[in-house]
Amino acid sequence: MEKLSLGVSYYGNRIPWRVKEDLAAIREAGCTTVVHTFSEEDHQFYQPAMEQIVADSHALGLEVWLDPWGVGQAFGGETYSALVMKDLKLRQVSSTGELLPIACPNQPAFRDYLMKWIDTCARFKPEVLFWDEPHFHIYPEAEGDAQPKLWACCCAECKKLFEKRFGHPMPDRMTPEVRLFKEDCIVDFSRFLCDATKAKGIRAALCLLPFENSSTINNWEKAAAIPSVDIIGTDPYWRPRQPDVARHVGRFSQRIAELAGRFHKEGQIWILNFNIPKGEEGKIKEAIEAAWEAGIRNLAAWSYFGASYISLKAEDPPAVWKTLSACYQDLRKR
Ligand SMILES: [Zn+2]
Repeated sequence: MEKLSLGVSYYGNRIPWRVKEDLAAIREAGCTTVVHTFSEEDHQFYQPAMEQIVADSHALGLEVWLDPWGVGQAFGGETYSALVMKDLKLRQVSSTGELLPIACPNQPAFRDYLMKWIDTCARFKPEVLFWDEPHFHIYPEAEGDAQPKLWACCCAECKKLFEKRFGHPMPDRMTPEVRLFKEDCIVDFSRFLCDATKAKGIRAALCLLPFENSSTINNWEKAAAIPSVDIIGTDPYWRPRQPDVARHVGRFSQRIAELAGRFHKEGQIWILNFNIPKGEEGKIKEAIEAAWEAGIRNLAAWSYFGASYISLKAEDPPAVWKTLSACYQDLRKR
């Protein structure tokens, strides 16, 4: 039988004996995998808790993924970064010279921190490290603009790398070269992280943002071609009342499935389990079916129990959880 991976993310995990009850519910719901967030704060203050939580997850037969949730703000995650407050040299710099509250993927000191984060994770013996949406600072208002005035990063390290590659100083306006440079920097950053993950004997997953953006990777072939990437995926979340969920998720699933097949990777699709209006829980099933139809066998939902404990929760978390669970149970019988 082909491998089926059905996961859910879990955050707010600080009290292991409480988490244990949720882990049992996650297993009961049909999940095979749990994605634990491991933020800067967790790294600094909650290592014993995470070690116990990973062990408890394994004891229940769950595969464990760890996620650099909001680390340096250069990954996805609804949390803050202390790194960029403590060391201003880590920060990205905007095209107008302003320091931004997000770490630069090219800064060696940020990469040093991430090596320490990986070392710590490796001690807990997870199966996978989940590199979630690595990116430069995103200016939503500037996206779609061919000549945005505001973009990042123009820090000394980026300027040095740009000049080394192109033989002239980095311009202060967006050009095709700057766009290419930024994309290749995120590809290089992803390769660095996945290589370091593999060196620890852990599998590496990379999740790409599901929209064209000058601050991340648009040419997904470059990401899929990274040898150390084992699992490549995206998170095509839909908006409330979006009518074409199956088509939307199906389109991204086909793109991932095609790349995964061509580059011999496992393809993963994330399913929205937060910010769902009451009565729209059925869209979860539509999305899962669309991904399944495209050949995706690695699914994960953000987040446990309709994310009921965070502001962006679903309106009816029990209904969301029940729907996800019914879908997962059904897939396990196929
Ligand atoms: Zn930079």
